Order: sequence, then C-alpha cells, then structure tokens
Amino acid sequence: MPSFKPDITGFRRQDLANKLAEINLDPSLVKPLWNGIYIKGATGFSQISAISRKHQLQLADHFHIGRPTINRELVSTDGTRKWLLQFPDGHRIESVMIPEQDRGALCVSSQVGCTLSCTFCHTGTMKLARNLTATEIVAQILNARDGLFEWGKTRSDCVCTNIVLMGMGEPLFNFENVSTAIQIMMDGDGLGFSRRRIMLSTAGVVPMIKRVGIELGVNLAISLHAVRDELRDELVPLNRKYPLQELLQACRDYPAASNARRITFEYVTLNDVNDSDADARELVRLLRGIHAKVNLIPWNPWPGAPYQTSTRDRIQSFAKIINDAGYSSAIRATRGEDIMAACGQLKSDSELSTITR
Ligand code: SAH
Repeated sequence: MPSFKPDITGFRRQDLANKLAEINLDPSLVKPLWNGIYIKGATGFSQISAISRKHQLQLADHFHIGRPTINRELVSTDGTRKWLLQFPDGHRIESVMIPEQDRGALCVSSQVGCTLSCTFCHTGTMKLARNLTATEIVAQILNARDGLFEWGKTRSDCVCTNIVLMGMGEPLFNFENVSTAIQIMMDGDGLGFSRRRIMLSTAGVVPMIKRVGIELGVNLAISLHAVRDELRDELVPLNRKYPLQELLQACRDYPAASNARRITFEYVTLNDVNDSDADARELVRLLRGIHAKVNLIPWNPWPGAPYQTSTRDRIQSFAKIINDAGYSSAIRATRGEDIMAACGQLKSDSELSTITR
C-alpha cells in the first residue's frame, strides 16, 4: 500500500529542519536522520538507532521514507541495468546504471516523457506527462544504491560513482526540482557526489545555463547534433527558440568551465545527415573559444525511426578531424542496447506498461 504520509526524502537539510519544526521536533534530529537515510539507506525510522524510540514513532506518525516501486529490472549482457520505476500516482520512468571498470554512471530521468520532440530520440516520441519532483529524482539514486547493495560502502567499493542527468526529459525545463535534487546529491554528509561527478545534459535551454554554472557548478553537456541552424531546427526543434549562436555564447560564458573542466558536446551521428567531414570542420570552427570536448554518440536505433547509424569508418573520420584540431572526441560505447537502455531508447517499457496498467 502506498503511504499517504509525505516522503521525507528529497528535502534539502534546511528544508528538513523546517519540516521537523512543524511537528515540534528539534532540528538536531536532522543530522542522524540525514545519516540514516543517505549514508545507511534506512527505509524506516525504526532502523535509525541514533534516534530515540519516541522520536522514531513521532516521525513515523507524520512521514515515511519512500522508494518507488520497481516494475521491472533488466540486466544487459554488458552489465548495464535498467530499472522501470513507478511512483504512487502510476507514472513510470526509467533509470539506467552503466558500470565501467572502476566506476559507473547512473543515468537519471528528470521528467516523465519529454517536450523536446528531437526527431532521432525515442523518448521524444512520448508526450510529457509531468515533471519529476526532487524526491523522485533523488529516489532513483536511493533505488540504485539498494539494488547494488552499496549502502555504507566507501566510494572505491561502489559502482555508482557518478550521476548523469541524461535520462528521460529535459532537466532545464524542471530546473527547481533538478536543482534541489542535485543539492541533496552533493551534500558531503549524505550521498556525497561532488560537482565533478555530476553531469547535466541539456538540448540548450539557454536562459538556464548560467544558473547551472553559478548555483550548482556541475559538469555541463550540450546535445548539439548539428552545426547549422537549418538542420538543428529540424533535429532538435528547441533550436528554433535558442539558435546555435546564442547557445554557443552561453557555453563560452559558462561559469563552471575551464581547461580542466570542459563542456561536453554530444553529437549523435546520423548516416548522411550530419556526419560529413565538412560538418566536422564546421564543428571545430563553432567550438573555437569554448573549453570543449566532443562526445560522438553512434545513433541507437528504435522501431520506426527514420535514421541509420553512421558507419564506423565515417565516425572515425569525423573524430579525426576534431582530434587533429586539438579537441578530444571520444566515441561513446553503446551500452545496454539489448535491453533498450542506450541513449535515446528510453521509452518503450514505460509506455508499454502505461498501456497495460
Ligand atoms: N534532454 C536532455 C537530456 C537527454 S540526454 C538533452 O537533450 O541533453 C540523452 C542524450 O542522448 C542526448 O544527447 C540525446 O540527444 C541523445 N540521444 C537521443 N536519442 C538518441 C539515439 N537514438 N541514439 C543516440 N543518442 C540519442
């Protein structure tokens, strides 16, 4: 049974203190509560032994420590894991854990569906149902820690070392909740992900980019995908509102970028659409003056999509032009394709289950 008491996760520390004050509990309880929830992974107040029995009961009278329901968990042959999570109102989202040798990134969703309608993206064919709350964004990390048995472990023993806001949705269309969630993730006495271990990816909501740098200071990724407005208007319709020149100026001005902390430009390679040598040279020209690196993403197919993946040779030739100009240009390894967990493939399971609900 879902609890109708409010979930106590997803409040910043000061907000948590205020919540406690509302029920006449002392703010000194924030510390053991925070530790119990975000370091030890408590799912009930009775598990937090640093809090007296009386206070545990009082907390339980007013709140619960929530977790979304896991509708389905899929594990790819390459170790990538995808969780289909359901919230009490029935909405579902996906989060994906991508393990690497000595670390791993959890790809977190920020909205149920998406409004961007990028033509090459599967999530983009879904309608937006609603924004996720800060609680629901943080819950994806709590769920991953549960599933990977990582509570109480030191970072070197954890697979989930990095967070990327690259799941379903456009994080900068849900800035307040995303910002609250990131502040909770970054709290050193709790989940403790430093700003260098968090990456926010945007299709280019220009007016919000500066705030990300100033208020959060996390790594920024830009979904570029085209070097001319005409094509980008088509692939990423948000470009009609915030064209390339404005977007690139916001990147030039990004307060949290430096030589050591470059902005990642994501570029999905679509066969014969955006993958020519001339495109690569134009990309180099556009990036001038920006602390940039390029991440080439071989396009991941989904049923009914009007594109094809570029050939390996084509991608390598594209990458070489960027490398020769002095920018790193990693070709992103496709992960979790067998469970439709790769970039731009998140959708089918959540929609499927919505239909059968
Ligand atoms: N809305 C944000 C967050 C999504 S991040 C953004 O646009 O940045 C997911 C990344 O995967 C984006 O760069 C997106 O453009 C890319 N992507 C979408 N569909 C894809 C596909 N089918 N294959 C490869 N990459 C894709």
